[in-house]
Amino acid sequence: MTNTKKISIVFDNTTLDPGLKTEWGFACVIELDNEKSLFDTGNDGKILLSNMARLGYAPKDFSRLIISHMHWDHVGGVIDFLHHNSDVIVYMPASSLTDDINMIKSISKSVVLVSEPVEITDGLFSLGDLPGYLNEQSVVLKTDEGLVVLTGCAHPGVLNIVKRARVSFPDVPVKLLIGGFHLLHDSTESVIELIEKLKRLNVQQVAPTHCTGEKQMELCRQLYAGHYIKAGAGLKLQFK
Ligand SMILES: [Zn+2]
Ligand SMILES: [Zn+2]
Repeated sequence: MTNTKKISIVFDNTTLDPGLKTEWGFACVIELDNEKSLFDTGNDGKILLSNMARLGYAPKDFSRLIISHMHWDHVGGVIDFLHHNSDVIVYMPASSLTDDINMIKSISKSVVLVSEPVEITDGLFSLGDLPGYLNEQSVVLKTDEGLVVLTGCAHPGVLNIVKRARVSFPDVPVKLLIGGFHLLHDSTESVIELIEKLKRLNVQQVAPTHCTGEKQMELCRQLYAGHYIKAGAGLKLQFK
């Protein structure tokens, strides 16, 4: 048994690898054993596919596409990706607009509308269609080291997302919170307060990126000293 658990950011506003292209948006590969899922697609299919190729991923290798929410910076690459692989099962929030659902159904054979928290595959869960400025689904990867909570833009609020994860898995600490935290309009005081709350909820490490905001990411880096992971396209993390 290989038991591989990996995540790899393939699209982001920033990059750790100068050979990758950057644009405002987010996409991340989740690998469980030999099964690959793509979480979001960034804002541009050509950039998504070129970054994926550089990082060794071909669309044909994927069995699932998980869409956090229908904002363009997360679904701009959906059509290009599906044109390369229309066999993936697409998981999208049940609250998505009918036109968007129908557009995806016209390309993909299998679309799952997520409302309640659900196990997507062994060890990978959606936290459900969480209400927010725009409803959004986040995912949780269950590892031996704790939960890895992966957010798109965190429009329901990153704290609410973590709380939902703690309700679904009350006895498991959050090893890592990673993705867009959407704090770019938040004041220093409110970010400090948020970080204290995240620590009280037993969030051990953070890797904020995408729409978190530069000043707000720097605060996370300082206040999560030693437990902050610098994120960006090209970040690969492996878990036990
Ligand atoms: Zn976003
Ligand atoms: Zn958004």
